[in-house]
Amino acid sequence: MPNVKGTRDLLPSESVIWARVEETARRVFSLYGYGEIRTPVLEHTELFVRTVGESTDIVGKEMYTFEDRKGRSLTLRPESTAAVARAFVDHRLGEQPLPVKLFYMGPHFRYERPQKGRYREFHQIGAELLGDPGPASDAEVIRMLVGFLEELGFEDLTVLLHTVGDQETREAYRAALVEFFAPLAEQLSSESRKRLERNPLRILDTKDSAERELLIDAPKLEDSLSAGSREHFAGVRSALDRLGVKYRVDPGLVRGLDYYTLTVFEIVSEGLGAQNAIVGGGRYDRLLADLGGPDLPAIGFAIGLDRLVESLPAAFRDRCTQAPAVRLIAIDPVPKLAAMELGEELRARGVAAVVDFGNDRMKAALKRAHRSGARYVLLLGEDELAKNAVTCRDLNAGEQSLVPRSEIVGLLHNRLRNQIKGQIKGQIEGQIEGQPAGQPGRQRGEGEA
Ligand code: AMP
Repeated sequence: MPNVKGTRDLLPSESVIWARVEETARRVFSLYGYGEIRTPVLEHTELFVRTVGESTDIVGKEMYTFEDRKGRSLTLRPESTAAVARAFVDHRLGEQPLPVKLFYMGPHFRYERPQKGRYREFHQIGAELLGDPGPASDAEVIRMLVGFLEELGFEDLTVLLHTVGDQETREAYRAALVEFFAPLAEQLSSESRKRLERNPLRILDTKDSAERELLIDAPKLEDSLSAGSREHFAGVRSALDRLGVKYRVDPGLVRGLDYYTLTVFEIVSEGLGAQNAIVGGGRYDRLLADLGGPDLPAIGFAIGLDRLVESLPAAFRDRCTQAPAVRLIAIDPVPKLAAMELGEELRARGVAAVVDFGNDRMKAALKRAHRSGARYVLLLGEDELAKNAVTCRDLNAGEQSLVPRSEIVGLLHNRLRNQIKGQIKGQIEGQIEGQPAGQPGRQRGEGEA
């Protein structure tokens, strides 16, 4: 049976990369004081209708909404900011020292037309800083995000930055748009006419080419920006300059969710094309209060993990591939048990070891060892058992020697020391030593004999 359209299976060769990206996010975000929040995949539909906005594409066309057995309308989360805000209000996190810093990662669902970089089940890693008005926190959030992406090896990223203004700005801009479009209503599509009544800002998202022509003369948000909004935006930019973050002010940046206020941003990768942002984020100063919570400002972002992985620099991918370094081969039943015992001893010292379970000839077993990417092959035959020794073959060097059974675990542990340290302590260890962690055994490090 095929999988559901727009969903994917991730096999180990891919999931190892995803796991490493997630580990990096956890590490970088916790360096800034963020803690992980895990909210349910299911929420009441109303949460997204009220926050993301009824007239947005997400709520209007893309949600996986259904009634449960008691007739309640539930939705598979299409994004997580609303869910994090809900949890923040439910758990009264506003009573904790502010700001509260939370990150999340997991699957999200939108009924979109599947294509490369666009799925119906997709994954986001996001962070939210709740309870600080900025602009310094805006800059810190963006700096953290850029730092995370740089750790993954990205170099061709562009931060697009803009402001959608505060409440005062939005009201003034809304009025200006209504005044502009009202006499042109006849020329608008029925969808845009509806938007004119409900949320005229959404007309700016139109993909209709005739409507895009009309937009050329439409009032610009810049002209409606309040003094406070201008000051906030200037503050964000000067803090980003100070922190050395490169960005481009993009007046065309329209984020497809209603709850944004002031700062909005996206990060695009040149390789992926402008359509496909990897990250979207912004400030949402009214959302908590709209949900019946405290009147606290907040800012956050969401990274599209599927797209991020698709555009990862090759060097990062290469570092993630990790074959067990040792392969044990014993053709006959008695030596096979001895090999299993030895495998346990190796693993107890942190050496990844796989016992070959094939019941065929040595030649076939050696072929499997080469294909597996192992660095060392240990051969245990009747001969070796009689001598209480193991034949150790170094596949890189093409050498082999007979090693006393009592010495083999210590010897391999020593030779693979760098790799084991990297696995245990993650990338931190690798970076401190100036050597990427978890490299496959083919790399020669200082600890090797
Ligand atoms: P948004 O919540 O719309 O701001 O999206 C944030 C990020 O999530 C985007 O920049 C994308 O990288 C990613 N994203 C959104 N929708 C999808 C999708 N259908 N498939 C894959 N990634 C997506």
